[in-house]
Amino acid sequence: MFDYDVIIIGAGPGGIWSAYELRDSGLRVGVFEEGNPLPKRKCPIDGDKVKSCVGCKTCSIMSGFGGAGAFSDGKYNITNEFGGSLYEHIGRQKALELMEYVDSVNLKYGGAGTKLYSTAGTRFSKICLQNKLVLLNAKVRHLGTDINYIVLENLYRELEKKVDFHFNTPVDTLSQTDGGYAVEAGGRTYTCRTCIVSVGRSGSKWMEKTCRALGIETMSNRVDIGVRVELNAEIFEHLTDELYESKITYRTETFEDRVRTFCMNPHGIVVNENTNGIITVNGHSFEGDDKKTGNTNFALLVSKHFSEPFRDSNGYAESIARLSNMLGGGVIVQRFGDLIHGRRSTAARIDEGSVRPTLNATPGDLSLVLPKRILDGIIEMIYALDKVAPGTANPDTLLYGVEVKFYNMEVKTDENLETAYPGLYVIGDGSGVTHSLSHASASGVYVARKILEGRRADARTDRKTNG
Ligand SMILES: Cc1cc2nc3c(=O)[nH]c(=O)nc-3n(C[C@H](O)[C@H](O)[C@H](O)COP(=O)(O)OP(=O)(O)OC[C@H]3O[C@@H](n4cnc5c(N)ncnc54)[C@H](O)[C@@H]3O)c2cc1C
Repeated sequence: MFDYDVIIIGAGPGGIWSAYELRDSGLRVGVFEEGNPLPKRKCPIDGDKVKSCVGCKTCSIMSGFGGAGAFSDGKYNITNEFGGSLYEHIGRQKALELMEYVDSVNLKYGGAGTKLYSTAGTRFSKICLQNKLVLLNAKVRHLGTDINYIVLENLYRELEKKVDFHFNTPVDTLSQTDGGYAVEAGGRTYTCRTCIVSVGRSGSKWMEKTCRALGIETMSNRVDIGVRVELNAEIFEHLTDELYESKITYRTETFEDRVRTFCMNPHGIVVNENTNGIITVNGHSFEGDDKKTGNTNFALLVSKHFSEPFRDSNGYAESIARLSNMLGGGVIVQRFGDLIHGRRSTAARIDEGSVRPTLNATPGDLSLVLPKRILDGIIEMIYALDKVAPGTANPDTLLYGVEVKFYNMEVKTDENLETAYPGLYVIGDGSGVTHSLSHASASGVYVARKILEGRRADARTDRKTNG
């Protein structure tokens, strides 16, 4: 009666892990993905000949098999302290259990031999507290961009024979039909009994439109704005050697805003990121020694929560990022010393410095871009970090801007991640509940298992009814 038992919209980590759990269930599963298969995902921006977005039909960084995480650093954080609020729906224990499960499967599919770091028992917790900083507890599996890609290739090989993939097929509309759902995609209608929506950040506008059409409640959310810091790797080596990624938070004295480190890349590179045609900054690192650099980079982000009536927190951050693009033609880079002295950086001053930039960005003045409150918070935190990692506040430390972490509106779902519509689930970053590889993946596993439990219960009821 239906084309598929289960349709999954989006082939990022959320969608992939639902498909993985359903692959041997006997259910007919169709995955619809706006972007390309993994080998065809190529972003033309090389920071050299092509510096800014050329507006590809679909963005290869954000879309395609592997989703936004495909070219990421592949850091799977196993924790409830950051990365999303999945635990609020499914419980802390269950969330951790599923993140551990995802980790164990990643190891089977190519991740074996990669390092697992942990904050358990580290002396840095105390050192941070003594300096008004808080080190968040977590275990982190660092796959690295290269191994992360291999794991995705292997997962695809496992899935391609068992699941129908429809690439370059964005779903236009999702609606309810008799006992199920209909999706319009690629000029055709496909029906299913159960639908898992996992459209991630890039699908945020589509998600909002769909929620409006179906009358599903959404709640406004937050946005994080800041810079990416790049410094000589030695300065953070004592932390990164032991913990790899230290998630540290700081509460500013002036405004009591929360500033945090995010996405730390020891011996990594700073990269451009394209969000809806706006160039922001991000960072990568690699597992292979041959690709390691002498620098470490991480973001310093200030969380901004807006309350009603303002709901467009992402629009606010986009305007700030656009300003940096207007002034710098892309990402701006500034020496910390120049920022403190109220002057723009120049190519000559950066050349004379001790930190060799790994991204070809435009030297400029971030104080013309970032609101004072955000900039003050970042400067305060750099001085606080200087106490646990002396050298952080060196004048030559480079700051790239703007880095933005966008969040989706949170979609109202229950403890099964199911909307008010039976059999319609919303998972991953598109739900606003998760913001990370491990949480998005865990939400995919969780929902798939809920669907299988439901099917088993239905089968038992049918057997009883039929005697
Ligand atoms: C550069 C970068 C580095 C990152 N590094 C890390 C990291 O090291 N660790 C970490 O935990 N997190 C990291 N993240 C975040 C992480 O990638 C995301 O949290 C994760 O990918 C979310 O998974 P998801 O499946 O929910 O969504 P996504 O990965 O965004 O996948 C959603 C998919 O849905 C598709 N889609 C959207 N709309 C439609 C539609 N209408 N029809 C069909 N398909 C659609 C998209 O094309 C996309 O492929 C990084 C993100 C980026 C961009």
